[in-house]
Amino acid sequence: MSMPMDMSDARIYETAEASPRPAFQSILRGFGGACPACGRGRLFHKFLKVSDNCPDCGEALHHHQADDAPPYFTIMIVGHIVVPMMLWLELAYLPPLWVHATLWPALTLVLSLWFLPRLKGAIVGWQWALRMHGFGSDAEEKMHGV
Ligand SMILES: [Zn+2]
Repeated sequence: MSMPMDMSDARIYETAEASPRPAFQSILRGFGGACPACGRGRLFHKFLKVSDNCPDCGEALHHHQADDAPPYFTIMIVGHIVVPMMLWLELAYLPPLWVHATLWPALTLVLSLWFLPRLKGAIVGWQWALRMHGFGSDAEEKMHGV
């Protein structure tokens, strides 16, 4: 075995060790509103506005394309919480209409506002972990010295 071959093997191993992006951890960090790369910097600089770069580690976050996935998942989850509760209340207590008319829109609004940024963060974290939409290009450019 020649020396240069060993060195190139070590270099490949080193970059492979440095590059893994665990999906579950990235999704959890995004759900918590943290940068998927470091887990410390804030992912959002406004309610739903993703920062261009992580304020802590500088990771580029502008590559995300969450699009309409966060509202899709928010509607699905909130609907599966609110509708069964609505049906249960109606069947169990038969409350007056004003109870339904005030309770469910308020609960839907609160749950939606709670879930929407968390699900958007989770999706951005997942896209980052999968190196989608240019999330992998910076690291690959550094790896290959471009
Ligand atoms: Zn970061």
